[in-house]
Amino acid sequence: MKSISLNHASALLVLLIPALSEGSALLMKDEKKREITFFTRFIYRGKAMTPKLALDSTREIASLWNESKGSVMYRGREYRAKFVFSYATDAGNRMPDSGSCAENHVMIEAPAARGDRSFYSMSGRFGTFYTSDDLGRSTTTAHEYGHGLGLDHDPYEQLNAGVPGIMFARGTLVKSRYQWNPSAAPGAAGGSIKPHHRRVRAEDLRKLNVDSVGFVGSVGCLGDGVLRMVSMSNPVLPEPVPASVQHLLESSPFSPDLSEEMDSEAHDH
Ligand SMILES: [Zn+2]
Repeated sequence: MKSISLNHASALLVLLIPALSEGSALLMKDEKKREITFFTRFIYRGKAMTPKLALDSTREIASLWNESKGSVMYRGREYRAKFVFSYATDAGNRMPDSGSCAENHVMIEAPAARGDRSFYSMSGRFGTFYTSDDLGRSTTTAHEYGHGLGLDHDPYEQLNAGVPGIMFARGTLVKSRYQWNPSAAPGAAGGSIKPHHRRVRAEDLRKLNVDSVGFVGSVGCLGDGVLRMVSMSNPVLPEPVPASVQHLLESSPFSPDLSEEMDSEAHDH
């Protein structure tokens, strides 16, 4: 899962949006292109956080969530789904929480106890990644982000499933080739999913509850909370960068219509 960091494109995406709801992604809906773009900016902290782990985690999330090139449903209509991520490290804890649904705060820690597993608030913006989870390679970060988007685990018995979905939990029973040990009996030691095999499938995107989003013009939050500006500097995209995502980095995502809408909203209050 190779990816690149487009440092030169820093600060090109500044999302100026009125307050509305909190969640783990800010959505922009383009009716003409029938496309919905999910924006998330990660702020990493924690005793085990390093610039490399922050980058690797964000790259993994970006690669997997853009991989299926699938679509989401909104009000019965199909929209292509794109995911754009950026990140910052904040070891000194100097960045206050903006409250924006686009801003997700993640601690990277060494496990305190054996068996500690990474976690994320459901439909939320706060998570903890443990270094014991092979961050950047095991698909764990993308799985946790899926919880942030509101997805729960799939059923634990998946012996008939093909490629494992991103929301298969550790311990899920899968076809032998997706096990830690392909020759182990299902449920025996080594006889459950090796998380590295998980992928974000088109059917996983379809489970995102975009219908719950209250769009203001073309923007909205997946989850509860506030729609608020957040810098999308230091964007991380999968390689090769899909042209449809690249254009977002080259121009402001805001249409003139939306700016006017925001102005009038500001004057009203
Ligand atoms: Zn989980």
